[in-house]
Amino acid sequence: MRGYWRGAAGWLVLWLVLTAVASAAFGPVTALAGLAAWLLLLHARQLWHVDSLLRWLDQPPGTPVPHGSGIWAEAFSYLARLVRRQRQNEADLRSALERFQSATAAMNEAVIILDELDRIEWCNPSAEHYFEIDARRDIGRQLTYIVRQPQFVEYLDEQNFADPFVLRGARGGETTLTVQLVPYGNQQKLVISRDITRWERLEAMRRDLVANVSHELRTPITVLAGYLETLNEQETPDPAFQKRAMELMTQQTSRMQHLVEDLLTLSRLENARGPSAEQPVDVPRMVQGLHQEATALSASRHQIVLDVDTELWLTGAEGELRSAFLNLVTNAIRYTPPKGRITIRWRPTQDGGGAFSVTDTGIGIAPEHIPRLTERFYRVDRSRSRETGGTGLGLAIVKYALSHHQARMEIDSEPEQGSTFSAIFPARRTFQAPVAATATA
Ligand code: ADP
Repeated sequence: MRGYWRGAAGWLVLWLVLTAVASAAFGPVTALAGLAAWLLLLHARQLWHVDSLLRWLDQPPGTPVPHGSGIWAEAFSYLARLVRRQRQNEADLRSALERFQSATAAMNEAVIILDELDRIEWCNPSAEHYFEIDARRDIGRQLTYIVRQPQFVEYLDEQNFADPFVLRGARGGETTLTVQLVPYGNQQKLVISRDITRWERLEAMRRDLVANVSHELRTPITVLAGYLETLNEQETPDPAFQKRAMELMTQQTSRMQHLVEDLLTLSRLENARGPSAEQPVDVPRMVQGLHQEATALSASRHQIVLDVDTELWLTGAEGELRSAFLNLVTNAIRYTPPKGRITIRWRPTQDGGGAFSVTDTGIGIAPEHIPRLTERFYRVDRSRSRETGGTGLGLAIVKYALSHHQARMEIDSEPEQGSTFSAIFPARRTFQAPVAATATA
C-alpha cells in the first residue's frame, strides 16, 4: 500500500474509533456532529489545495509548485519532480538543438526543414544565402514561394525524391544548386542543397577542352593523312610534290608536337599547388637569355630593347618563370609587324616587388577580348595565331605559372597601337642579388 493510502486509512480508522467512543460517551448525535465537522474541515482543506493547484496552473511556467499537507504534500512533490524532469528534458533538447544548429551553421550545404505543407520551419545560414531567404520574414512561407521555377514546383508535387533536383539560375542567375529532399517524420521534409556552380564550370571546361583539342588536332592529321594517301597512290613519285609534302607534313607534325607539349605543361602547372621549386632565380641573366632568343626569333625584323635591373632576383621555379616570360616575349614578336619595337623590362615596383613586362608596338587587342585572353584556346584572330605557330595555350600557361608565384598579370593594350603584358611579383618574392653574383655580372 502506498504511503498516503496508509496515512488516510489510519486517520479514517482513528476517527471511526473516536466516533464510536464519543457515541458511547456523549450519545450518537454528538458523535456524528463531531464526525461531520471533521469531514467538513477535510473537505475545506481539499478545496484549498485544489485552489492552490488551479492557481499554480494559471501561473507562467517556472513558478514553483505549491506546498501542501497530507496526500497533497505527496502529490505536489510528485508534480515538482515531474516539472523538474521536464525542465531538464527541455534543457537537453535545447542544447541538442543548439549543437545541431551550430553544426549546420558551419556547413557549406544549405539545410531547410519543411513542414507537411512544405512551409519553411527552419533553415541554416547557407540556406539563407543560397535561396536568398530572410529567416525573420520567410519562416512559415512555402518553399515554392521562394523557389518559383515551375520545374521545381513539379518536382515537389511529384514526391519522387530519388534523384536530386538541379536548380539553375539561383542567386540572381549565376549559381547552380542541387536540391535533395529527404522525407521524414510526419510528412516533414529535410532539404539539403549544395552549390555545384564550380563543378559545373569545370565540367564545361573539360568538355570544351576535349572538343578544342580534337579540333586542333583534326587539321594537321587531315593534312598528314591526305599527303600520305596521295604519296601511297603515286606509282612513280613526283620529287617536287614529295618535297613539298615532306615540308608540310613536318610543319603539321611540329604543330602537333607544340600542342601536346603546351598541354602537358599546362596540366603539370594546373595540378601543382605552388611552384615546382623555391630557389633563387637570377632574373637579370634569364632576361638577357630571353633577349637573345627574341633576337633570333625576330630575325632582325624588329627592334628589341632591354631595360633590366641587374640586381633584382626572385625566389621561385626558374623553369616556370622562364616559360611564362618566354611566352610573353614570343607573343610580342608574333603579334608585332616587321619594323615594330619590342621592349623587355625587369624593374622593381614601388612596393618593393618586381615587374617583368613586354611592350610591343603591334596589332594590339580590343578591350572586350582582354578578360578572356588567358582562357585555353582563346584567340582574337585564330588564323594569325595558327600561322605564327600559336597553340592558344600560351597565356593560360603564363597565368598558372604566375599564380604559383603569387604574381598577377596586367594587360594594357590598344588596337593598332600595341600592348604591354606585365607580370607583377610581390615584395616577398624579390631580393637583391647576392654579392658574388653582382661581381660576376
Ligand atoms: P596564341 O598561341 O594564340 O598566341 P596565347 O594564349 O599566347 O595563344 O594568346 C592568346 C591570344 O591573345 C592570341 O591568340 C592573341 O590573339 C592575343 N595576344 C597575345 N599576346 C598578344 C600581343 N602581344 N599582341 C596582340 N595580341 C596578343
